[in-house]
Amino acid sequence: MLVLHRLPRYAHFMVRFTVLASGSKGNCTVITGGKTRILIDAGLSCRELFRRMRQADEDPATLDAIIITHEHSDHVAGLAVTARKLGIPVYFTEGTHRAWVRWLSPRKQMTYTQWIEQCRKQAAARMAESDAATCEECDADDPEAAAELPESAAAKKPEKDPTWLPSVQFFQAGKPLQIGDISVSPFTIPHDAADPVGFVFQAEGVRMAVATDLGYIPPNVKAQFKGVDLLLLESNHDLEMLRDGPYPWSVKQRVLSRVGHLSNEAASTYLESEYDGQAAYIILGHLSESNNLPELARIAAERALNGRASLLANRLLLAAQHEPMSTICF
Ligand SMILES: [Zn+2]
Ligand SMILES: [Zn+2]
Repeated sequence: MLVLHRLPRYAHFMVRFTVLASGSKGNCTVITGGKTRILIDAGLSCRELFRRMRQADEDPATLDAIIITHEHSDHVAGLAVTARKLGIPVYFTEGTHRAWVRWLSPRKQMTYTQWIEQCRKQAAARMAESDAATCEECDADDPEAAAELPESAAAKKPEKDPTWLPSVQFFQAGKPLQIGDISVSPFTIPHDAADPVGFVFQAEGVRMAVATDLGYIPPNVKAQFKGVDLLLLESNHDLEMLRDGPYPWSVKQRVLSRVGHLSNEAASTYLESEYDGQAAYIILGHLSESNNLPELARIAAERALNGRASLLANRLLLAAQHEPMSTICF
């Protein structure tokens, strides 16, 4: 069950979208719709994530849930600590959850079924325990934020198990779900992870699509982008910079592959030839620091959009790795 926070300070903007970080060193976005606030990915340390939220005038204590695109570390590095600290549920696909568990417990000789069983037993044991304790891991991390914790977060002590989360909720690509006031449509993206997804979020009639970490844009993803008001799209690398850049050939091949990352060229080809022009905001994201320059990504997209006179109202923005973007309000 979600406990929805009252948000008088945000009431004048019913829908808000803030990219806290985007790129291979960490990805994290906050979305607010009605009274619900969701964190998309937690690829920064909890401490850094909270710092950036405050910097962007977003209050970490009001988050209701975390939803994960895939298990790569730039999307989940701070997940466990953040979820425990806030005492909020984490939404995964089952495949992503399974891969995340394996990633955190590589030496465990345990099948996934055994692990789920162990979790059930641990949950039952915790229910039986009456003494409450705080999360010492988080308190040590950031004492100031610990003081702002909702009561629910302080009620349970995580086991030593690094995969322990306050609550895990599964969803499937292609099956819409509701998180409080926000409707979420998860869709499959082509990327070298267990079960990677992008999302369309809808709240108060505003549709926002998030699709980074994809090797190309297949028809199912293009269909999801139709009629969105905001599109956060990957523009990872400049093809020439990647080819001539510092990565070993095997990594270059991985990035360029159909399950790698979207180039500036691929993003702009989509914008030029198939994008329907409906979005008030197009945000280019997940820019590589080694194989791209913000100006190259911007110029490629601008060229693509400028050819289309009907798109003058579209605003083109770039998401950054090291600082939050200004909040977009609808
Ligand atoms: Zn990524
Ligand atoms: Zn990835």
